[in-house]
Order: sequence, then C-alpha cells, then structure tokens
Amino acid sequence: MTGTMRAAVYHGAHDIRFEDVPVPVPRNGEALIAVRRNGICGTDATEWANGPAMVPLAQRHPASGHIGPMIPGHEFVGEVVDVRGDTAVRAGQVVASGAGVWCGACDRCAQGRTNVCRRYYTLGLNANGGLAEYVAVPARTLRAVPDGLPLDHAGMAQPLAVGLHAARRAGVKDGDRVVVIGAGAIGTFVLAGLTHLHAAEVTVIDLPGPKLSRARELGAARTLSARDDVVAAVLDATSGQGADVVIEASGAPTQYANALAMVAVGGRVLAVGLPKEKPAVDMFALALREITLDSTVAHVCGEDLGPALDILAEGPLATLLLDDVIPLEHLVETGLARLVSGLVDGKILVDPSARP
Ligand SMILES: [Zn+2]
Ligand SMILES: [Zn+2]
Repeated sequence: MTGTMRAAVYHGAHDIRFEDVPVPVPRNGEALIAVRRNGICGTDATEWANGPAMVPLAQRHPASGHIGPMIPGHEFVGEVVDVRGDTAVRAGQVVASGAGVWCGACDRCAQGRTNVCRRYYTLGLNANGGLAEYVAVPARTLRAVPDGLPLDHAGMAQPLAVGLHAARRAGVKDGDRVVVIGAGAIGTFVLAGLTHLHAAEVTVIDLPGPKLSRARELGAARTLSARDDVVAAVLDATSGQGADVVIEASGAPTQYANALAMVAVGGRVLAVGLPKEKPAVDMFALALREITLDSTVAHVCGEDLGPALDILAEGPLATLLLDDVIPLEHLVETGLARLVSGLVDGKILVDPSARP
C-alpha cells in the first residue's frame, strides 16, 4: 500500500499536529495494520503535557533507531492489510498489538522476560505508534482478536495485559488478603488480572464514587474510602495482621507509606503507580519486617496479551471502563487534556477511521 494517511504527530509538549504523512512500509516480519481503535493513557497525557520524557525527539533511540517527531499511541487494535515475510498473521485478520518490541536474542528474552529485553522499545513512545490510519509493527507482537469481540472492548487488550502482568508479579496465593490502592483505569486492570488468576480476597481503596462501585462489580470483596484511615481499616479487617500483598496503583506518592504500614510482616508490596514526586520509603521498617518491595512494567506479549483478550471476551470489564470513543482530530481536546485534568475514570479510545 502506498500513499498518505492522517496521523497525529508529536512535536513536543502541547504540540501535537494532525498531518498527512506517508503510509509506513512494513519490513520483513512486519504487518501493516489499519488502526481501528487506539486507547490513550496517563503515559500519553504526560508526554503531551510535560514531555518529551520517552519520545526520542532530539536523540536517536538506541533500539528503535527513531529520532524526531513521532506518531504516539501504544494501545491499538486493527485489521491486517499487508504482511511481509513468514508471519503468524494474515491479511484480513483483526488483531490486537502489544506495545513493546523485544529482540528475541538477549539473556532477558531467553528467560522469557521480553518486557525487560536489553534492546526493548515501545511503539508509540520510542517509535511510530497507532494514532494514525496505519501502523507497521513486528508481527510477533500481534494476537488475533476473538470473533465477535467488539473493537471498543478489544481496544483495551494492551492495558489489561499490563494489569495482568502486574497481577502475576504480585505473587498472590489463593486465600491471600490483597489490597489494591487506586481504582482508576490501571487499578481496575490490575483488579481484573487478580480476580482472573486467583481466589484472593481483594480490598480496593480510592476516593468514594463510581470507581469504587465498579471495583465491587468486578469482584472486590471490600472497598475503602481513601479519605478515611485506610491503614487502620485494613488492620481491622485482617485481625490486626495486615494484608499479605499490597499493590500501589494510584501513583499518589503518599500511598507508599500507607502500603508499608498496612502490609503484614513478611508480606509484599508491588509498585505499579508512577508518582510524579519521589515517595519516601522507610527502609528501616521495611527491613525489620522483611517486606518484599517489587515492581512491574509493561507486559510479556506471549503470556499476557492473549489471556487479556479472553478476559475482555468473558466479562463486563470493557463495558464498565469505556469512557468515550473519539475521532483522531479530537485527540487533544477531548482526549489528552481530559486525562491531564484527572477527571477521567475510564478509558478513552481513538478511532482513526472516524471523521470528526
Ligand atoms: Zn498505555
Ligand atoms: Zn531481548
């Protein structure tokens, strides 16, 4: 396919332009995707408002080779329109893409930890992504969307894969008492991953409102208002012992202190949220109680993306999370700016084929 396409192009903070650019030409092992939905998240909003942080505008990215203005978008689904070489996908298939590209040759890839590949790069952050009519991606990052799964639902596969990966990293065992701090989109994807993997008793903490009712609908046994003394409430609910696992998914710097105060001796705290300011962590209390502090990033395509599509096909998650579907040209006003305002509880999807 040749010609031009509409694309959102990131030129710097508060500078996304809608341009006609050449349709990308897939290389060997790549597929050309006609993008149908591209979800946007806090990472995109941060790049737009305060970036560039990860976009290689001025310095060539060592793994992707990209430099200069870039098409964002790392959460996308679409139709395969062209493939080059021997790939597992074929033209006409509807597929969901993972966000990260791994080399397949380094020690981390050999360990199956493709999300921490030594030459990892992320589509839409380090190389052109899905906020355009077309995107070319390595075919190994793609998974077929199950028949009948609406695009508005399939469009959440990538962030749900991130939540599922976090849930795996949490090291939860059946019967554990788990706390998830944060019931926004990220916390909700983590909750969905947890309830999919384990029979754990999950408590979710956030400000009172629809986010907490959504958490209960998705299987949270208990919700607590972040305005109350949540440490006392968790200790109360666990006969003074504390939670076996606490997952911080709010990104509020003060919540790490709460997480350490409410986790049981020998328990585990998983960092998912990315606070803007550096949180204070009491290493003394952490060591004396042998608390494991761990983290999680992105997802492992082979482990997380397929199951994420299955979860979306089985349950009400996507219906409960969908906020809006907008055309490409509305990306800034009704997309990124709303995310920056912090008033969006769910997911905004962009449909690059829709005309405003
Ligand atoms: Zn994202
Ligand atoms: Zn690698």
